[in-house]
Amino acid sequence: LSERLGGVFDRLTKQGALSEDDVRTAMREVRVALLEADVSLPVARQFIKAVEKKATGAAVTKSVTPGQQVIKIVHDELIAVLTGDEDPGRLKIDNPPAPVLMVGLQGGGKTTTTAKIAKRLKEREGKKVLMASLDVNRPAAMEQLAILGTQIGVDTLPIVKGEDPVAIARRAKTQASLGGYDVYLLDTAGRLSIDEELMAQVEAVRDVVTPRETLLVVDGLTGQDAVHTAENFDARIGISGVVLTRMDGDGRGGAALSMRAITGKPIRFVGLGEKMDALETFEPSRIAGRILGMGDIVALVEKAQEVLEAEQAERMMKRFQKGQFNMNDLKAQLEQMLKMGGMQGMMAMMPGMAKMQKQMEDAGFDDTVIKRQIALINSMTKKERANPDLLQASRKKRIAAGAGQDVSDLNKLLKMQRQMADAMKKLGKMGKKGLLRGGLG
Ligand code: GDP
Ligand code: MG
Repeated sequence: LSERLGGVFDRLTKQGALSEDDVRTAMREVRVALLEADVSLPVARQFIKAVEKKATGAAVTKSVTPGQQVIKIVHDELIAVLTGDEDPGRLKIDNPPAPVLMVGLQGGGKTTTTAKIAKRLKEREGKKVLMASLDVNRPAAMEQLAILGTQIGVDTLPIVKGEDPVAIARRAKTQASLGGYDVYLLDTAGRLSIDEELMAQVEAVRDVVTPRETLLVVDGLTGQDAVHTAENFDARIGISGVVLTRMDGDGRGGAALSMRAITGKPIRFVGLGEKMDALETFEPSRIAGRILGMGDIVALVEKAQEVLEAEQAERMMKRFQKGQFNMNDLKAQLEQMLKMGGMQGMMAMMPGMAKMQKQMEDAGFDDTVIKRQIALINSMTKKERANPDLLQASRKKRIAAGAGQDVSDLNKLLKMQRQMADAMKKLGKMGKKGLLRGGLG
């Protein structure tokens, strides 16, 4: 697919800002990629519409094509959609013993995942964990969990024949309290499809233990079915997160995007095999790369951006070393400050600037001030920016009026520019290595 895209993109080499056409052309390919990755059609559509809006007009990094730039924007947006508010790997299991309910269709990987999570909690968080199987439907289901428990060194609730799931859940709760467990995981019975009787059973169990987490385990390869399952379980039981299993397979993982977009539930873990260690915290960037299948393009654009930033920093540094610091430079610095959320960033990085930083802070220098100063610079002609010494009384009046400010404001700005230019000159003499040690931007 990347190759096919390469072909399309080679033809689009216009630089500057992304036009509607650039975006639309690239998005056709993105759409194919999303659908091939098994993202559901409405989700793919909605996603593309949102990204098209964002991408149109965005800047194109030098030495990449507009098409490649679009892919990078799509990739970043995918990550944004896939990323939830919280750390996906951290289950809410304070207040021991915390009940965790595992739900899902039969064969989705519930029992395996229950044991994987138990192992993780035990080993990574030092929790004392109890597991209980509520699966009275399938013969040997309870033994399966017991065997896994022995294998990973985690206790399982002793099996009592003839008990119903609610009774087992009650016993697990009691046992967890008495035994001083931090957390108990309830592995429920599977179902082949959404089935009223079994749903009612899970609901009854939920009401007995009031789980801190209800994790839906779904086969990531089933794509849209997985999303459908999630919607159903969430509507009926209420889920707090999703585990996508079989992500070690060939599937491109589009279910993850649909899942987030449709249910809004966080994906917590992905299963990557049958072994007990084959469970990873959900990593949005990894899945995004996989869904899009264009990792090489994303890497290329990132690289180009890095190179460009380094070139810009280099150019600036050379000018500074020669003691050149005009209004364009000052504007760049001011904009950088805004981007970094205020004063601290830039000046702190520059040796010898601490004093000026202090002065500016004392003068109540904040974002509004920075924006007003940028407005003043914008009101200057190209010539004036390059050579602020040109600014005599009449020009000053014009510039200040143009920015809706007083000449005294402009004078302050000019003073600042002169101070900076002087400081740069001194630094330039001090030697080439000492300047801008922390890198520019
Ligand atoms: P349950 O019916 O939902 O409890 O599913 P099981 O935990 O019994 O798993 C069904 C099968 O899927 C077993 O053979 C597991 O080893 C396998 N399985 C579970 N998770 C994964 C996974 O992430 N990757 C792969 N390849 N197999 C898995
Ligand atoms: Mg099972």
